[in-house]
Amino acid sequence: MHQRAYAYVPEVHRRYFAQLKAYQIMPDSELLTIREVCLNMPVGEIISRAGVRVNCAVCGEEIINEREMISGETILCRSCAGQSYYQAMGQFVPIYADHCAVEAVER
Ligand SMILES: [Zn+2]
Repeated sequence: MHQRAYAYVPEVHRRYFAQLKAYQIMPDSELLTIREVCLNMPVGEIISRAGVRVNCAVCGEEIINEREMISGETILCRSCAGQSYYQAMGQFVPIYADHCAVEAVER
């Protein structure tokens, strides 16, 4: 995918920016593949309903798409309920263009 992207913008030499620009102009057939799948839950549960928002009683994080967990009468986000899909490592790092460019060069 990356190599194909570079062919669309040969004038852009920094990989991150080449990908960023190429993905905006590449045809769908170059970007995507399609595979039939079987959902493990009803599609309605996955997409939820527009505008459904609650806040976690512990951390205050806004929870959208009915991803909240209910513990007794307490609304919890997945992280506070112990079902986080990630683990925090170190400090928050602000994301800005220079940082992305540096990462792209280092790949
Ligand atoms: Zn929380």
